[in-house]
Amino acid sequence: MDDSYVDDALTDAKVAFQQTHGHTAESDLNVSDASLVQLRKACRLLEAARTLREQNGYYTVVIEASFVAVERSIQFYLLHRGYASAEDLRYEHTAVYQQGAEVNLFSEAFADRLIQLWKQNRAEVYYRETVASAEQADAMLSLARAVHQYILNFASLRYECVCSR
Ligand SMILES: [Zn+2]
Repeated sequence: MDDSYVDDALTDAKVAFQQTHGHTAESDLNVSDASLVQLRKACRLLEAARTLREQNGYYTVVIEASFVAVERSIQFYLLHRGYASAEDLRYEHTAVYQQGAEVNLFSEAFADRLIQLWKQNRAEVYYRETVASAEQADAMLSLARAVHQYILNFASLRYECVCSR
């Protein structure tokens, strides 16, 4: 790939992340508070997942986005309540579930169930041992929306949510 059109594309991508002046920012994410950035990312992921689900498929992407939306929603709560700093959240995926249990957002048993679900998805869908189904996509999107709603109500910050419905 070196010295090919891929090399040029890689250079362009690197520059795009380094020189952001004058870029078009994603709507609803231009908030200064770090916790709200995580919340709004969760909102946007849920919107994107629902849009893709309504458009005839993309089950794997819907499932992936739903898992990330769950993580973002929990990260929002941890940051908002001061249980974690932005740097603390740069762990592996399952750590955020454990942190959620540590601050009593849910029980250790509940965290274990979330972790098992995540691992099962990684093992089976991500590595293509099985193909993602519509039923799995619907179940994961429902779970992600439920976690999002619960945390917003729990934190009394429903008004900061930018989900359309
Ligand atoms: Zn939302």
